Amino acid sequence: MMRMNRIVLAMLLAAGLTSCAAPPVDTKPFTVVMLPDTQYYSAKFPATFAAQTRWVRENAGKENIVFVTQVGDIVDNVKAPEQWQAADAGMSLLDGALPYGVAIGNHDYDDLDKQASPTFASHFGPKRFAGRSWYGGGTEDGQCSVQFFQGAGRRFMVLHLPFEGSEKALAWAREIIAKNPGVPTIVSTHCYLCPGGTPFPDNPAAGRLGIKAVKDKLIDKCPQIFLVLSGHCPAEKPEHRMDANAAGGKVVSLLADYQFLPDGGQGWLVLLTFDPAKEALTVRTYSPTLNKDLPGPGGLFTLPWPDSLKALAPAAS
Ligand SMILES: [Zn+2]
Repeated sequence: MMRMNRIVLAMLLAAGLTSCAAPPVDTKPFTVVMLPDTQYYSAKFPATFAAQTRWVRENAGKENIVFVTQVGDIVDNVKAPEQWQAADAGMSLLDGALPYGVAIGNHDYDDLDKQASPTFASHFGPKRFAGRSWYGGGTEDGQCSVQFFQGAGRRFMVLHLPFEGSEKALAWAREIIAKNPGVPTIVSTHCYLCPGGTPFPDNPAAGRLGIKAVKDKLIDKCPQIFLVLSGHCPAEKPEHRMDANAAGGKVVSLLADYQFLPDGGQGWLVLLTFDPAKEALTVRTYSPTLNKDLPGPGGLFTLPWPDSLKALAPAAS
């Protein structure tokens, strides 16, 4: 066998076929930015909102930022046009620079009980994102949307889903997942985890499903979902927990919400850096307005590499 292998190798070298080896794997770390509840920036501190997104834009190359998600409550008062103007001005700084998405928060609905969201849809619905290569579509009410980004030469998917879910939203999400099997997926939804790492209390109203149903019917059933990002519950540092899905794979859920800190949240945002070579997911909290990292172990920590990332889907051609 050994002699035969040498002969085969010699034949390949002679034919120049060894130069057709697979390209090297891209293991460059990449970063997803999470913008926690911006409602008080939109209401009172629009310059802080703009400072966050401007910093993201200006540091996208240095930090290799590949995606931005705002996790809901983009405004405090849905009926205040100036707050939508501030939110739009802030998010617009990402236009042409980075793919991004916005989850709808409870403050962003015109009528949460009726799950009506025409104002949110008019600002952050499908029309805003039409034609962008990374936008995969969304529901007309703006409550569900899907985006794609590339990290380490691989294709990732982000699902933005409504507050406390709905049967309609979960059916939509399942359809998107069925069309993109195996693509590592992040869910961004306004409310999922509470401080202390406990799930948000399951007390849905007016046709919403509640967090347990979202977890049981979607997160646990779809092994390609490896990360759930949420806000809504104020916390002074990011909180996380690790669960197993139905296939036994790890699912990380991460909460960040600084809205009750001074100045509407002091500009804190979360950088999730994926390092494929080290198989580590680092969580760092940084404020562009304070120009510093959140001190202490809560401001910087590393999560285990999710199982579902060990079988990444091929990069889109
Ligand atoms: Zn909220």
